[in-house]
Amino acid sequence: MKYNIDFEIFGSIIILIIIIFFKLKFDRQTESEKSFMRLAYIILIAQFTDMASAVTISIGGPKLALFNLLFDTVFFIVEVYMALFFIDYILISAYGKPVRKSRIILVFYGFIHTILLIFNLFFGFYFRFDFATGDYIHETWYYILYAIPGILAVAALIIILRLRRKFSSKQWISVSSFILFAVIGLILQGTLIPNIYLSFGLVTIAFLMIVFSLETPDYRKLMKTMQELEEAKRDAEEARSEAERANRVKSDFLANMSHEIRTPINSILGFDEVILRESKDKDITQYASNIKFSGKTLLTLINDILDFSKIESGNMEIIPVEYDLKNMITDQILMVANRASDKAIELKCEVDERLPRVLRGDDVRIRQIVTNLLTNAIKYTEKGEVVLTVRLEEAGNPAGIMISVKDTGIGIREEDQKALFGAFRRIDEKKNRNIEGTGLGLAICVSLLEKMNSELCLDSEYGKGSDFYFTLKQEVVDETPVGRFSIAEEENSRTVEITHDDFTAPGKRVLVVDDVKMNLSVFRQLLKKSGMIIETADSGGQALEMIRSSNYDIVFMDHLMPEMDGIETLKKGREEGIIDTDKVPVIALTANAISGARDMYTSVGFTDYLTKPIEISHLISMLVKYLFKEDHPYPCL
Ligand code: ADP
Repeated sequence: MKYNIDFEIFGSIIILIIIIFFKLKFDRQTESEKSFMRLAYIILIAQFTDMASAVTISIGGPKLALFNLLFDTVFFIVEVYMALFFIDYILISAYGKPVRKSRIILVFYGFIHTILLIFNLFFGFYFRFDFATGDYIHETWYYILYAIPGILAVAALIIILRLRRKFSSKQWISVSSFILFAVIGLILQGTLIPNIYLSFGLVTIAFLMIVFSLETPDYRKLMKTMQELEEAKRDAEEARSEAERANRVKSDFLANMSHEIRTPINSILGFDEVILRESKDKDITQYASNIKFSGKTLLTLINDILDFSKIESGNMEIIPVEYDLKNMITDQILMVANRASDKAIELKCEVDERLPRVLRGDDVRIRQIVTNLLTNAIKYTEKGEVVLTVRLEEAGNPAGIMISVKDTGIGIREEDQKALFGAFRRIDEKKNRNIEGTGLGLAICVSLLEKMNSELCLDSEYGKGSDFYFTLKQEVVDETPVGRFSIAEEENSRTVEITHDDFTAPGKRVLVVDDVKMNLSVFRQLLKKSGMIIETADSGGQALEMIRSSNYDIVFMDHLMPEMDGIETLKKGREEGIIDTDKVPVIALTANAISGARDMYTSVGFTDYLTKPIEISHLISMLVKYLFKEDHPYPCL
């Protein structure tokens, strides 16, 4: 029988041209290009072996029949690899990279198929050469060799259908037609026109479709760019999450460190307080005052770092509580009054008479912002004045309260103003070198205000002064106007604090609970002259034991302690019936003054709370308040 291989010759020439074209076009090949080239090569090899087989059969004769057998063997191997490479090409086109699992299956499949065909040469179960007659005989299993590519074509179709979403319609049509054309070619060749080698001609046409639709340089470039973009996006996302992780670690570290540093500072300030209280030597009291000033500055810095890391790690909460506006303003002014008078700066306060008396908001955080602005204003002003203005900008409930801190200081250049609100930013570093600061204050103010749905604004002129201001919406609790505000009157109306040395409470029994032994010692020293009986416990368990066996008039309990913290200790004591806060007040000691701290501590059963480092005046006020009720007033008052 003579076979017509014109289609196949046409096909191989086309494939050859495609290979040469792509070899010249792409020098740096992507995975997809590589798999496309592999497919082109294997089609070409399949065509050559198929043609060789057709030629040997056409010429005929026993010798050529043997060659025909060898060519057929190679052809059947290559044909299956063609299908496998095609599946690989689809997967790479869909995923942009080889799919390892599928590749292993494909290689395994090809390997078994190759081994079987090699075995066939010796055992002849698919087809064999009869050396006696010189005939090339097809065995019954021969049809399997056609069924295998058929099965693979179906597998490829299923894969294409399943990955449909990953292909564009253009891609989808091209790859499906490839299979369709290959199958149609095989069927036509096997049935209607057996003597015309048609199938590879059709495969070539289908391959051309892929070339013109998917493998055009422009399309390839586009795909490559998209792939690179995808990779860049992945890299950027990885880098972002890594940066976020590192930032979290940093924030946690800062939070831990600042917490750890606070403990010894508290002790230092506590003992310093003892020195101030006990020493009669003028020089020593001066040194101790200096230590107190520096210690407090250090504590402010540490608190800033702690706050900043809390804000960064998203752990900063705004806790609204009721607060008295007049009180807050007075506190703010009194807090910085000394610093201002030290520098001979006039400190003024302008308060809108219409402002409501009691508001609801996070007073601790508002105080923190205003204190920061006021201290900055004083820090960066050499002469002139600093004015705190509080104005009712919008009446109603909630009310719009505008707070401004204006100074006649060094001012800020326009170009520096934007950068100012970022963390760790300090400007005019050379000029301000001798002014202490971390550059965190304003960043904290900005973040806190953001949390309160407000923003920090700035009007400043370099060399003339600055005005930092913001407006807060605050719920009105008592709308009675604050009226005329005079800082001198406010100061005078405040209760006169008992001086340290005045306080005595002979025979009163106090229990102090704190896991830091230094703090216990400070407490003891501070009240040394009070005549009180001071006992100490360094854990919740020990405290409970002591309460069980003794009667106390008042208990001071640290909040954060290892094993059993202050809250747990109180709870356990109340459950056991050995602590009754109606009879014996239990005061929480805390290192962190957060908003609503009193509410928080009283809601869990404490009578009140006191912040660390312990200020002797606060401690004494607390003792007076709870040890000497109305029926037995404190003798000094
Ligand atoms: P710092 O701890 O350095 O004071 P801040 O965040 O509070 O940090 O302030 C950042 C920088 O802004 C300061 O270093 C200073 O240069 C500038 N600045 C802040 N307040 C004023 C002001 N009232 N007048 C002039 N410059 C100011």
